Amino acid sequence: MSNHFFEFLISHAKVYGFIFPSSEIYGGLNATYDYGPHGVELKNNIKEFWWKSMTLLHENIVGVDSSILMHPDIWNASGHIDKFNELLIDNRDSKKRYRPEILIQEYVEKKFLNNSEKKEKILSRLSQSLKKNDLIDVKALIDELCICDPIEKTKNWTDIRHFNMMFKIKNESEKDLYLRPETAQGIFSNFQNIRKSNRMKIPFGIAQIGKSFRNEIFARKFIFRMREFEQMEMQFFILPEEEIKWYEYWRKIRFKWHLELNLEYKKYYKLSDHDSLSHYESAGSDIEFYFPFGFQEIEGIHSRRDFDLKNHEFFSKKKFRIFEYKKNYIPYVIETSLGLDRLFLALLSSSLKKEKLKNGKIRIVLKLPYYLSPIKGAIFPLVQKDGLPEIAKKIFNEIKIHHRLVYDQKESIGKLYRRQDAIGTPFCFTVDYDTIKTDTVTMRNRDTMKQKRIHIKEISRIIEQETGLKKILLKLSCFT
Ligand code: ATP
Repeated sequence: MSNHFFEFLISHAKVYGFIFPSSEIYGGLNATYDYGPHGVELKNNIKEFWWKSMTLLHENIVGVDSSILMHPDIWNASGHIDKFNELLIDNRDSKKRYRPEILIQEYVEKKFLNNSEKKEKILSRLSQSLKKNDLIDVKALIDELCICDPIEKTKNWTDIRHFNMMFKIKNESEKDLYLRPETAQGIFSNFQNIRKSNRMKIPFGIAQIGKSFRNEIFARKFIFRMREFEQMEMQFFILPEEEIKWYEYWRKIRFKWHLELNLEYKKYYKLSDHDSLSHYESAGSDIEFYFPFGFQEIEGIHSRRDFDLKNHEFFSKKKFRIFEYKKNYIPYVIETSLGLDRLFLALLSSSLKKEKLKNGKIRIVLKLPYYLSPIKGAIFPLVQKDGLPEIAKKIFNEIKIHHRLVYDQKESIGKLYRRQDAIGTPFCFTVDYDTIKTDTVTMRNRDTMKQKRIHIKEISRIIEQETGLKKILLKLSCFT
């Protein structure tokens, strides 16, 4: 996949109402995006699929929807105030901020494209210095390599320093607040509420979908890295001695879930272990996806052990210990943390195709899994006369409460098909003159473009059968 493809994808997402730059009328706001009419439908379908995969397929997983604003001590206990930092370097001339490790990595990738030995040597020195938190050596690398500011082309760099990624909100009357950088803390802080109110017994999980906020310095790559994004997280509470068993289990289950989105996606995925661990984790791995700009993390699976519950017990002075299985203990936690926006981008990148047709023309088609498509079916009249629009509208009205459908008659039938292909609608149903005589319509499939006649009464059942979540959930239930 190329840069050219990525630009095409961003433009397609805008033209077809999936994603718009936020605050566009005022020139936009860096690293924030809005989801348009088709975007929000796709996003909701992804959420529903993830939510059902967690809560229907695992009877010991329940949900929560915690608030974004939380008591500021939460962030002391979680370690985010002290340790949720990125490295930062400023260029005094351009007044731009950069992540020093990314400056070095990108420079080396370009400069030593054909000298992998030199590249590896520099990257290994960078990795060693980062591990030792040796910021002086990271700066020395920038100086030795003579890396310039990409805009001003000068080397007028400041020292490297740490930068906390949480957004702080000034709160005149009380302590300052933070916008949450992960949804997980709303789960930990409700651990006892949920355990007691739902009579949960270890092992059990709590799932949550919600917004998170990070003041990303190097926010680029469209919706891949934003300052406001959505996470789908699940914290699974276990007996400490079962850490490895459940860590392996969730790694396997989550990887399988991604692969099952579409078998073709296999070539897009890999699973890799973390080189360096976050402040809260004792083991971690990433599910990576081959985005248009290379392999990058889409979901993290982490063993957080008792890091969070223990710290909350210490800071809040409330009991997080439980008595079960004849012992008194703080449960360990395995976390699965998926970025909804990254999955959205992954789906767009792997589904958006330009196909050459037999007549030499190109059609643009979004080959999303049917159950995630924003619109499940489109209903058209072949022509806008002789009562065909009325019949088509009647069919639409009769089944619209069961499925997300569109009715369209604004263009010629060929153009209507192309538009539905471009937004990924699996089926189009066209009312023609035979419909008047036989109560049948043509049904066109997005992927094969083949058409067949079906009875009007069949439309709803076919949409349900082919585009509902039932089939995929049944398949996934075999792996749990
Ligand atoms: P990265 O290394 O790419 O910054 P991370 O390791 O900090 O990601 P986690 O803290 O593990 O990410 O968060 C879990 C998931 O949340 C990630 O796998 C990703 O899908 C998503 N995510 C994290 N940061 C962002 C962001 N700025 N924009 C969009 N999604 C994000």
